[in-house]
Amino acid sequence: MGPTSGAPAMAVEKDKLRAAALAIAATCFFALAISIGFIKQFFINRKRKKSCYLNTEPKPQYGFKRVLADNSYSQFKHLKLHTADAHSDEEFSNSHPYKGEISKIMKNPNVGFLEFLEKSEKGTLEMEGSYVWVETETQLKELVEVLSNERVFAVDTEQHSFRSFLGFTALVQISTISEDYLVDTIALHDVMGLLRPVFANPGICKVFHGADNDVLWLQRDFHIYVVNLFDTAKACDILSKPQRSLAYLLETYCGVSTNKLLQREDWRQRPLPQEMIQYARADAHYLLYIAYCLCLELKQQKNVNSGDWGPIHWASRRSNATCLQLFAKDIEACPGELAASSIVSRCLNDQGNISSSLCDAKFQELVRRLCLWRDIMARLHDESLRFVLSENAIIELAAEIPTTETDICSSISKADLDVESTILVPLQSPSPVVCCHLEDLLCLLQEDTTIPENIFQVFIHQHLGSAGSCPLSAYNYALLSKTSLGLNHRSTSNRNGFRASKQVAKKASRELYVSRNLAKLVEDDPPSIMLLFEPKGRPEDEDNDFYIQSKKNICVGCGEGKHYLRYRIIPSCYRMHFPEHLKSHRSHDIVLLCVDCHEIAHAAAEKYKRQIAAEFGIPLFIQKVVDIDNTQNIPASSLPIASSEEIGVSPLQLRTAAMALLRHGPQMPSQRREELTQIVMTYYGGREISDEDLERALLVGMTPHERRRFEKREGESVDSLNANLTETGQKQDFVDNSMVEDTGISTQPLSSHNGGDVTIFTADTDDLTSDLDLVPGSKCISVSKDDGISGSGNLSNEMTSPADDRDISLKHESKLSLLGHGPHGKMVVMHLLKEYGEDGIRDFCQRWRQVFVEALHPRFLPAGWDVMHSGRRDFGEFSVYNPTKKASVVAAEG
Ligand code: AMP
Ligand code: ZN
Ligand code: MN
Repeated sequence: MGPTSGAPAMAVEKDKLRAAALAIAATCFFALAISIGFIKQFFINRKRKKSCYLNTEPKPQYGFKRVLADNSYSQFKHLKLHTADAHSDEEFSNSHPYKGEISKIMKNPNVGFLEFLEKSEKGTLEMEGSYVWVETETQLKELVEVLSNERVFAVDTEQHSFRSFLGFTALVQISTISEDYLVDTIALHDVMGLLRPVFANPGICKVFHGADNDVLWLQRDFHIYVVNLFDTAKACDILSKPQRSLAYLLETYCGVSTNKLLQREDWRQRPLPQEMIQYARADAHYLLYIAYCLCLELKQQKNVNSGDWGPIHWASRRSNATCLQLFAKDIEACPGELAASSIVSRCLNDQGNISSSLCDAKFQELVRRLCLWRDIMARLHDESLRFVLSENAIIELAAEIPTTETDICSSISKADLDVESTILVPLQSPSPVVCCHLEDLLCLLQEDTTIPENIFQVFIHQHLGSAGSCPLSAYNYALLSKTSLGLNHRSTSNRNGFRASKQVAKKASRELYVSRNLAKLVEDDPPSIMLLFEPKGRPEDEDNDFYIQSKKNICVGCGEGKHYLRYRIIPSCYRMHFPEHLKSHRSHDIVLLCVDCHEIAHAAAEKYKRQIAAEFGIPLFIQKVVDIDNTQNIPASSLPIASSEEIGVSPLQLRTAAMALLRHGPQMPSQRREELTQIVMTYYGGREISDEDLERALLVGMTPHERRRFEKREGESVDSLNANLTETGQKQDFVDNSMVEDTGISTQPLSSHNGGDVTIFTADTDDLTSDLDLVPGSKCISVSKDDGISGSGNLSNEMTSPADDRDISLKHESKLSLLGHGPHGKMVVMHLLKEYGEDGIRDFCQRWRQVFVEALHPRFLPAGWDVMHSGRRDFGEFSVYNPTKKASVVAAEG
């Protein structure tokens, strides 16, 4: 490996790559020839090797010469500025190259840009005809020159993530007071680093809206790091605006309405359609004016307890905290394993589709093989997992075990037909990846013996090696190197092995997650929760009684004392179902957090909910609904317990279908229209449906709150209704797609959400709006698998106890929102109580505190706060004040 391991410098010409590949391939080959049985089979099957589709369908990113985040399993390398760092080339650099500059700005916010905006306010509002399309290096240099002389400019980026493994930036929009620039980051991908200095210049303020993702994407693709950010979404938070979406701001301040659906279009298109150009421009163009307006409001805001600092400074400070984030790849110890376990638990839970006998060891083993293959193939071809093979197709293949290539294809297209497709993305089924590599799949499905540990190398060698079928690119060449294969190998068809590897993956993800946020929160301390248990010398210690001590009004995460929100460590969707006496000590688990820490804690909690869902086999969302009025034999007062032949559809599926029909019904191909109609008819018990039925279907599963919001907008078009729903933090179709595929570690975290439009304040209230709001009316819930929880069919009766002070007013209403996590929470709690009694609940609470601590590394928790808190007031055996317990708490974590 000697000569090759150092070679892959960023920009390598194709020839060099080939040579390197040959050398590696030859070495690998001998090492591999050991697992003869499988490999022989593999080679026999490959005789009729087809040429890879990429040979005839080149993708834009295959023209990139300089790719910073490749698809190998090795960690992302950040920019190194200082030569001192360069010596430690072995390990990847995990520190922020501009940490010092950003910290400086955070201590002393630079809001000089404001005066500048004040002076030139008028020019910014109109968006007339001209803009500059930047696509040559010369033009880019000119832009750099222009920007270096500005005090402030606005930025937004558009991504493409469907035909790419990690996703890439397809467009960067930059607006100054006087001009809009659209930078073609596909054409200029390799030279985008030219913009690095202006983005890192602390004297130039960069205005973004919801910069969290953009900041990471710019690092990932161009090693561009933002220093001196003003994030209009953060300003909204500080001003407690009712919404923080850009669409809201555009409408409120500029009277401009946007079609946010365009953000999901294919931004690789060239030339970009006029409509998309206008959309992209608007995303950056008005930001300077909006920032100006928000700053005026911030200035006027009462300066209650912020000392010398005004709200503008806080907005700046909070914005710059975002810049400290570091992009990192999500790396699984066993590739595909998380997707596999999520699929398996989904199947175990979903008897409607798969009979339980199929969820046996063989089935599970095949799912794992297919997920592994999909992961490798997605990386090799630089495609998203979803593009390569859908989850439904994986399930179908593992269940049917087709024996010919033709049958494989028909299984896959059958599985994909059933799925509600996201309206904007045309799906090819089976994908070209599958079509060109059918022999792999046949081999995986037919091979009976345990597949060898080095199956990775076998696949990669076969496809990329000297006689490989698929083209090498800057994205996949590193897969051939030894380090990228130095992964933990799984012991196949062994449940414990499976679990153990899951643990490893979990740990890896935890470390990853922590390391990412660590930079933001803890400067020197090692990532250890022992921090929490060194209360000596802290002011809180003076009065040790947690319940009577006067808690300081500071963020328990970072100590900030000016702006904070209440945060519930145990999400309400669970806590509301706890037995009353366990709920009563909840103040222990409500803490104050600043907006940034709140965001981090909330994200970790959402991720953990998905993990709980997979672990317990209890989905986050209700899987099927039927219209009670049309199901004669079920009395309206009770909820049917689902049986495997139960009809019904998921609330999300129903809504998506109804929405698509209302919007595009007449223009749709008749077959698609027929499929969607079928979905809605299933809900109505099979009868013919009218337009009113479609409209009624849109409301299914909504809480009164959601309905009111919906109905308020009745005069407007259905499109805007949908847009409104999507942007107020619900993201239903989105959740549906990402939830199942990305349980636990997401391999494509960035493609699956847009921080910009998610209302982070929903973090504090999500459980109220989406879990607790109750639906009156006659719709009935049927959970597609009961999971042995008797009586769970009747969600309404047990919903009457108040979960929190604020919930009391809701107690007479009768149903949970089907679109929130309430039903999931209830089933989890019932399960815990049934299996483990109250100990189960205490254990569960401890897990949530652990999640909180690991996500945030809170440094300012009150001394009495304790992961192991018993929920009892008497500080019994679990109290931190019990010295033996204190020791064991620390040990338990170590
Ligand atoms: P925006 O700045 O809001 O236009 O979004 C930037 C990028 O985020 C888009 O180009 C998309 O790639 C991605 N994105 C944002 N929201 C969504 C969504 N709801 N669905 C899919 N992709 C999205
Ligand atoms: Zn290929
Ligand atoms: Mn945008």
